[in-house]
Amino acid sequence: MPLFVTCTGFIMSSAVTFQPQAIVIGAGAAGLMCAISAAEDGKTVTVLDHSNKAGKKILISGGGRCNFTNINIEPSNFLSNNPHFCKSALKRYTQWDFIAEVDKAQLPWHEKKLGQLFSDNKSEAILNMLLDRCQQLGVTITLDCTVKSINNPSVSLFTLETNAGAYETPSLVIATGAMSFPTMGATDFGHRIARQFGLKTTNTQPGLVPFTFDAAEKKRFDGLAGVSIDTEISCNDQSFRENILFTHKGLSGPAVLQISSYWTSGKTITVRCLPDLDLTAALIHHQQSAPNKHLINVLKTHIPERVIQAFCAQEDLSKSLQQYKHADLERIASLFQNWQFIPSGTEGYKKAEVTLGGVNTDEISSKTFESKKVKGLYFIGEVLDVTGHLGGFNFQWAWASGHCCGKAIS
Ligand SMILES: Cc1cc2nc3c(=O)[nH]c(=O)nc-3n(C[C@H](O)[C@H](O)[C@H](O)COP(=O)(O)OP(=O)(O)OC[C@H]3O[C@@H](n4cnc5c(N)ncnc54)[C@H](O)[C@@H]3O)c2cc1C
Repeated sequence: MPLFVTCTGFIMSSAVTFQPQAIVIGAGAAGLMCAISAAEDGKTVTVLDHSNKAGKKILISGGGRCNFTNINIEPSNFLSNNPHFCKSALKRYTQWDFIAEVDKAQLPWHEKKLGQLFSDNKSEAILNMLLDRCQQLGVTITLDCTVKSINNPSVSLFTLETNAGAYETPSLVIATGAMSFPTMGATDFGHRIARQFGLKTTNTQPGLVPFTFDAAEKKRFDGLAGVSIDTEISCNDQSFRENILFTHKGLSGPAVLQISSYWTSGKTITVRCLPDLDLTAALIHHQQSAPNKHLINVLKTHIPERVIQAFCAQEDLSKSLQQYKHADLERIASLFQNWQFIPSGTEGYKKAEVTLGGVNTDEISSKTFESKKVKGLYFIGEVLDVTGHLGGFNFQWAWASGHCCGKAIS
């Protein structure tokens, strides 16, 4: 019998200790997937979440249309101190497995770009697909549930004290995500539980997050808020070809979110506007073919005027092309094609789509997601030190780790 419970009167007053075969803390993407795959194998599963709603991040994801996976999933799309850790789960539960679930539920979807698959309907459709499956399988989901303490009095026995009553279980799965987007219920709970049980965690920082400008750059680019440009953006030997978007605080857009996961404080970001064009060569070509044309007019054929003004505030662009030396044209072109800046910072966890770092994967089996030190304790999803690129990779990690863990629960 399916059971959806919010933590109110009758359960709180109950003196019963609930004894499901598995407890999953966190009713997000990874936790729901894990509950489904364990329940499919006949386990009684309870999911506990402190929020008043399951899957809040699924609901807001993909601009409201859930970019639920990507056609081109490769281990190289994931950042971790151990780049091999994600391989096994991604191979055992692939994007095609999740697409098959979406198709089975008859939910329409489409590819937007770069292999990114989005729901045609609102993200709620994907969440409801998971919740319906939980319901069919008799998974209990208890919301508004605060876990006050977790103890491990003997091997493979976990006792939990919560405001929804006492629980004990041989298998405890931590699927509480990490710190990004605290307004959606995100916490560092999972990292604290890992440390409580003697597991190491790696350094964490916001990922897939907009950059902020210092005061001078903010002033320089003030008029460009809302302007989006196709670029190639690079940092620390990584490059992405996507749009950047100027904001009132700095820079966002897919290219910036991607590179932010590779950025550390103080590092230089390099931006190449018009990535398919050698602008110096193009200007020299124009100089030869139309020497009387004014430089500003030639630039305007490639770049919006507002952007030209912001990038070339110190340059005189009003002269005819023949009046510029090659070195001048090269310098002006490089303002667009080799723009280098050091972000003053990022917009932090408040605006980050993910948290980089987390529970050290050396502590966890890549097959079962069980802790190597504590029998019966599992970690899945974003709480681990595995972070995907933008584009459906983070959900695929949640589905894959959740599924493999659920199947492994003994
Ligand atoms: C704005 C935004 C848009 C995104 N869009 C996409 C996208 O389109 N595609 C994509 O692949 N990824 C996207 N992501 C990333 C994706 O949402 C996450 O990678 C994914 O949700 C992680 O799944 P998870 O189950 O590990 O954690 P979560 O989905 O964060 O779930 C964790 C759950 O644990 C609960 N919890 C936390 N602390 C406690 C506690 N102390 N006690 C009890 N419960 C607790 C939370 O309430 C939550 O329900 C987006 C993220 C954001 C913020």
